[in-house]
Amino acid sequence: MSIGIREAREALKLYFGYEQFRPMQEQIISDILQQKDVLVLMPTGGGKSVCYQVPAVVLPGLSVVVSPLIALMKDQVEALLANGIPAAYLNSSQTSEQQYAIENQCLNGQIKLLYVSPEKLLSAGFFSFLKRLQVSLFAVDEAHCISAWGHDFRPEYTQLKALKQQFPAIPVIALTATADKLTQKDIQEQLQLRQPEVFVASFDRPNINLTVLPGQNRFQKITDFLSRHHGQPGIIYCLSRKATESLAGKLRDNGYKATFYHAGMSSQLRAKAQEAFLRDDVQIVCATIAFGMGIDKSNVRWVIHYNLPKNIEGYYQEIGRAGRDGAKSDALLFYSFADVMNMRNMLSDNDKAQTELQLVKLERMQQFAEATFCRRRILLQYFGETMKKDCGNCDICRNPPSRFDGTLIVQKALSAIARTQEGVNMSLLVDVLRGSRNSQVLSGGYDRIKTYGAGRNIGTLDWHRYLHQMLNAGFVELAYDQNYTLKLTEQSRQVLFEGRQVELVKFEDAKQQTETQQREKPKREIIRDALFERLRALRKRLADQQNVPPYVVFTDSTLQEMAAEKPANRIAMLAISGVGAQKFERYGHDFINEIIAFMTEEQSKGSAIKGATHLVTWEAYQQGHSPEEIAKRRNLNPVTIYSHLATLLEQGYDIPVKDFVTKREYAAIKEAIDKLGPDAKLKDIFEHLGEQYEYFKIRLSLAMYKMQFAW
Ligand code: ADP
Ligand code: ZN
Repeated sequence: MSIGIREAREALKLYFGYEQFRPMQEQIISDILQQKDVLVLMPTGGGKSVCYQVPAVVLPGLSVVVSPLIALMKDQVEALLANGIPAAYLNSSQTSEQQYAIENQCLNGQIKLLYVSPEKLLSAGFFSFLKRLQVSLFAVDEAHCISAWGHDFRPEYTQLKALKQQFPAIPVIALTATADKLTQKDIQEQLQLRQPEVFVASFDRPNINLTVLPGQNRFQKITDFLSRHHGQPGIIYCLSRKATESLAGKLRDNGYKATFYHAGMSSQLRAKAQEAFLRDDVQIVCATIAFGMGIDKSNVRWVIHYNLPKNIEGYYQEIGRAGRDGAKSDALLFYSFADVMNMRNMLSDNDKAQTELQLVKLERMQQFAEATFCRRRILLQYFGETMKKDCGNCDICRNPPSRFDGTLIVQKALSAIARTQEGVNMSLLVDVLRGSRNSQVLSGGYDRIKTYGAGRNIGTLDWHRYLHQMLNAGFVELAYDQNYTLKLTEQSRQVLFEGRQVELVKFEDAKQQTETQQREKPKREIIRDALFERLRALRKRLADQQNVPPYVVFTDSTLQEMAAEKPANRIAMLAISGVGAQKFERYGHDFINEIIAFMTEEQSKGSAIKGATHLVTWEAYQQGHSPEEIAKRRNLNPVTIYSHLATLLEQGYDIPVKDFVTKREYAAIKEAIDKLGPDAKLKDIFEHLGEQYEYFKIRLSLAMYKMQFAW
């Protein structure tokens, strides 16, 4: 077979509008085109789909994609159709007539990608149906479902080994976002892949900013956050069903478009909530972790954890739902010690070995929340990946905590623990240190110990932070089995009696943090953001007209690039990442017109936008004004207006140049350009031609020359 990576690259540009493959995609596709089996482990948003969709487009016949998530099939097929790739799916949600029609299309060679559920694939007669087709490739998506070790085991997947037995010559690509070794081995064995190439991508999601804030005043902090993420879709994960409902209600009361989602709702209500979110009809979903499994919305811009998740696996999976399109996204986690306590209480119902494991995992989660160095390092290390340097995109990297000699603080705390007979929990200890007169303090007689009130100068929140640091560093221990009372350790004795020094980390006030994030935007960014909003609104209108989710029209990253580059003609628009031929056909002109309208308005408001002035001319010209009239209205020299028209011509706009330059004039000027070269100065051409031809004619002729104008 002679189909190579060059054809694949062309297909990537033509259908998907992307300039280049991501590094691993290119190797994977080249292996598939050489008929090798491959196994791909890539995080969500890593770009797995392209790895089989592009080969499917360039290979003869059709490719079959096995996917367990029926809801996602529809999305994928919609997205492919929007890119001009004939695709269809077969699953139990369809009537037999519908299935029959699709089978016919396949037999007629009208389909390039066919998505099937595993049940359908293994159903009676389906293999013999496939044998009547020219199948070039099998893709097994969510391949971890095959492994009984994985978290998502599907028994019907284990029968997929029949694929290799029935179709030994057809290459198989297996894909998953689960990275662990055991699952990986299972997939290879069960699918009977032949000496597969295994690709393991980094699981880093560098576009997601990681931030942890103390859990006090969560609601206030959420509304602050939302004011910086105006209109952007996001998910707030809550612990309980009730919490999702009350938070959504509170947000609605505050004017936000919010809804809730949890497993206790009817499937209709759940589907409704999900659909509204997919279509950007609601901005915010308050959900339990039941939400998100089967959704493929690429423009989720942020994820908030209202409570500390149980473990890092869950946390990473949940924040991974943000920013699948690669654009800037945020993950915000609220952390309070009370949450940890709650979680521990919830866990202790399980059997003992399970509880142990879960507690260890919770502890790792807690360490992440209390990190004093790059959080992404901690995350990736947890998954066995070591980063070479700090990420620069987490709160700690952006706002590194400073250290100070905290020996005195630690001594005060330890001494108070000793004098309360190691019998108080953290909150009570802080009350004692701060000299509180609450009933617990008084009834315990703690107001009479020597360290009572010795830490009055430090706020309650800060005391908690310092105590957490002491816990993490082993200067105190928490007796989980004795009402969470604080205990001294060998290390505490060193501080109390042997003069050991201790450094503590000073955190900047959370308030200060949000303020530094709210820096003033330069004018250029304000305009860019305003244009982005306009394009987003246009996208929503077009999506509603066509009854698809907005991100199927264009992704956020594509709109962001448009807002920054302001492409106002075909060539420039096609250069935007994510604008392929089909999408340009369908949407290109609407977006170009929106950009031009926006820039014209801005220009008339007096904003100087680079590259916009000739578009204002274009706008006026289209309204039927002559160049001379435009010059008058804009208070510019007519030559300038003609020069705008020339630029527009060079950019591919339809300018009726024949109205301004005759055939004879053009022939004469062209001769001069031939002689002096297309980079010659207007003045030189003017003089060369004996000052016979007006400047504006020369300027237009130059543009015609460059565009290889044929009379
Ligand atoms: P996954 O299936 O691994 O979760 P997707 O295939 O949905 O990831 O890809 C994630 C996003 O990245 C999509 O918006 C996709 O269009 C985009 N993408 C994929 N490959 C490229 C590429 N080569 N260049 C630019 N964007 C890409
Ligand atoms: Zn970092």
